[in-house]
Amino acid sequence: MSNWTERREALKKSVPLEKLVSKTVNLEAKGLEHVGLCPFCGDSRASFYVVSHKGFYHCFCCGSHGDAVDFVVFSKNISDNEAIEYLETA
Ligand SMILES: [Zn+2]
Repeated sequence: MSNWTERREALKKSVPLEKLVSKTVNLEAKGLEHVGLCPFCGDSRASFYVVSHKGFYHCFCCGSHGDAVDFVVFSKNISDNEAIEYLETA
């Protein structure tokens, strides 16, 4: 069993981030990226960018930034380790 950091890195490569985010956020393709309304702030201008090929999201409105694990942590209000287990079994 590898450690949490290694498991997290593996998830960054294996989880299609735009699919995970689009379960709760309406995303529109924009070049290589996907954009939508940020779920973490009162965004009304589609400031939320999902950069799947690099494995992270970023909101230009509130500055939220993270990977698939962070997204699950903040949207489900669970710990990093719980989010890693959730994504591994999803
Ligand atoms: Zn935001």
